[in-house]
Amino acid sequence: MKITLWGTRGSLATPGPETARYGGNTSCVSVIGRKDTVLVLDAGTGIRRLASKLDPSLQRIDILLTHMHMDHIQGLGFFAPLYRANVDVHIWGPASTSLSLRERLMRYLSPPLFPVSMRELPCAITLHEVPCGDIDIGEFKVSAALVCHPGPTVGYRVAEGVSVLTYLPDHEPALSPRAFPSLPREWTSGGALTADADLLIHDSQYSAGEYAGHVGWGHSSLRQTLDFASLCGAKHLVPFHHDPGHTDADLDRLMEEAIAAANPTCRVTPGLEGATFEI
Ligand SMILES: [Zn+2]
Ligand SMILES: [Zn+2]
Repeated sequence: MKITLWGTRGSLATPGPETARYGGNTSCVSVIGRKDTVLVLDAGTGIRRLASKLDPSLQRIDILLTHMHMDHIQGLGFFAPLYRANVDVHIWGPASTSLSLRERLMRYLSPPLFPVSMRELPCAITLHEVPCGDIDIGEFKVSAALVCHPGPTVGYRVAEGVSVLTYLPDHEPALSPRAFPSLPREWTSGGALTADADLLIHDSQYSAGEYAGHVGWGHSSLRQTLDFASLCGAKHLVPFHHDPGHTDADLDRLMEEAIAAANPTCRVTPGLEGATFEI
């Protein structure tokens, strides 16, 4: 599968010269399989540019949402295939205890927050609530599981043959009754999704100092992300969901310091917008 990062920023789109290299668009990752099935992981602002690169004759697209925070759905209304009548768009994401996935999405895709209502979109939309066991989408086998983050939030494990990608953009595995990472991976949030993954794309919002002031906000420090990847046996880590307050220069420094301190067991490639990976 070929994986491309279209949005690497957390919380709020952060364009500008000081974030140009790591990127200012919010979470969106495309995954294209050997038989050209297209998965889109989250619909942050990065999804708009992805649309311009997709084959216009594509007839099915699956969008896998981790949760409904704005930085993960804000690009949805600007995703060009939604405005084509001949496209089947399947949207996967979590319901809440009181609202269906449709009701939760309609809160954004309806006036006054957005001028076009979901039912007015010309494409054919099918909604699927997760987690719901293993899902077959074309050549992919996808698993979803609830993870530690405020509100119903899932992570995804995407397998094609023996190749495994794990996507955990908003995740705080350190919020645990025992010191992190002292528990085995089976007892750690996101551990089963990440076990021995070839590529892990994971939340790395904070520095260690910033995390101390944001315990329970649902994110990880870069050091925790490195420790989580080692705990789970991931082979290659891509830290992303960068804090809006971190410039390119800050991120270069934070990555260098954290990697030197953690000495992770896996390869680490900082998440830059536009980066591609093949597994
Ligand atoms: Zn987020
Ligand atoms: Zn979130």
